[in-house]
Amino acid sequence: MAYDLELIGVEKIYDNGTVAVRNFDLQVEKGQFISFVGPSGCGKTTTLRMIAGFESITSGEVRIRGRRINELPAEQRPTSTIFQNYALFPHMTVRQNIEYGLSVKGLPAPDRRKKAEGIMEKFELLEVADRRHEVLSGGQQQRIALARGIAVEPEILLLDEPLGSLDANLRKSIQNELKLLQRDLGITFIFVTHAQEEALVLSDRVIVMNRGEVEQVSPPYELYTRPKTRFVAQFIGRNTNIPGTLKGRDGEIAVVDTGYGTLKGFLNDSSLSDGEGVIAVVPSEAIDVYPVTVNREELVARYQGNVVEGVVRAADLVGHTVFYAIDLPDNREVRIESHIEKYHEAFEAGVSRVYLGWAPNEATVIGKG
Ligand code: ATP
Repeated sequence: MAYDLELIGVEKIYDNGTVAVRNFDLQVEKGQFISFVGPSGCGKTTTLRMIAGFESITSGEVRIRGRRINELPAEQRPTSTIFQNYALFPHMTVRQNIEYGLSVKGLPAPDRRKKAEGIMEKFELLEVADRRHEVLSGGQQQRIALARGIAVEPEILLLDEPLGSLDANLRKSIQNELKLLQRDLGITFIFVTHAQEEALVLSDRVIVMNRGEVEQVSPPYELYTRPKTRFVAQFIGRNTNIPGTLKGRDGEIAVVDTGYGTLKGFLNDSSLSDGEGVIAVVPSEAIDVYPVTVNREELVARYQGNVVEGVVRAADLVGHTVFYAIDLPDNREVRIESHIEKYHEAFEAGVSRVYLGWAPNEATVIGKG
């Protein structure tokens, strides 16, 4: 069966020579929630606009359900796009905004009306159907934009930072609605966001882009726990990256020589050879902190050698969460966030010397890249 969406070697070079997207390959099955994340200017929006038909494709191919759509005008593509500013028509009522897309698709007036009624009911917009959107709240405007996008029954819904202009609480609640809606409709969502947490919560797979290229495509948990590249290790989550040399391996576990001694981690790139430069990526959540009064040998046994000494430079309490900034001997900083209960305010900034320990399988060893 054909993929719902397929990108094959897609590239975009703008007229001014900017290479915005390079050799993008992607295969999406029907009903998946896919997010694009990456720093500003990495090519997320350009990719979305090429799928939508608002931007020409320099080379490569975009297919929807097996059909090449490169040359198809935007309004003939089986996609709907929802923008950050919602792009609602100010001179139209909510109802007219929703009916507009249906008229572009050529639906006769009675059918348009019926369909718009149904969708407004689903989105709880009937009460405001005959108002103009500028008098409505951000959340309502967001729902109108979604209703308008979905009314035309797209095969793929494209969302460009659709929650970007909402405040944090509203954003959270609309996030949940969005996920439920996507499950309910069973259609493919392609979602562009600056907020990596949002992408990790909502998506079946997250695509991390950097400088026009795809760095990694993975389900959120895998992306978070098993970065494949140095860029992803820095961009996603809160990791400490320790450089070293691959010394050997014990099954899936890599043994790495580092400035802090021999450390171990899951080897996430089987093409690496002994003697190569690598990075041990240690997630903040994996690290346990102990006062140096505990027996070091016991810790070394417990963490199979993954024990490093440091000094607490800063300790901040926010509600029930404590944040520690811990300096390793070469001033590399480790940031730890934990529930207050775990450490009972055990460590003081500037004073406490500590041991940090983590299980080998929770760290990931990747190439220097
Ligand atoms: P942001 O998160 O800031 O929206 P983005 O990841 O969506 O960024 P794009 O908007 O796709 O990135 O831009 C990718 C690159 O293409 C950037 O270098 C940008 O400056 C450039 N670019 C975007 N639109 C054009 C254009 N119309 N003409 C020339 N260059 C462009």
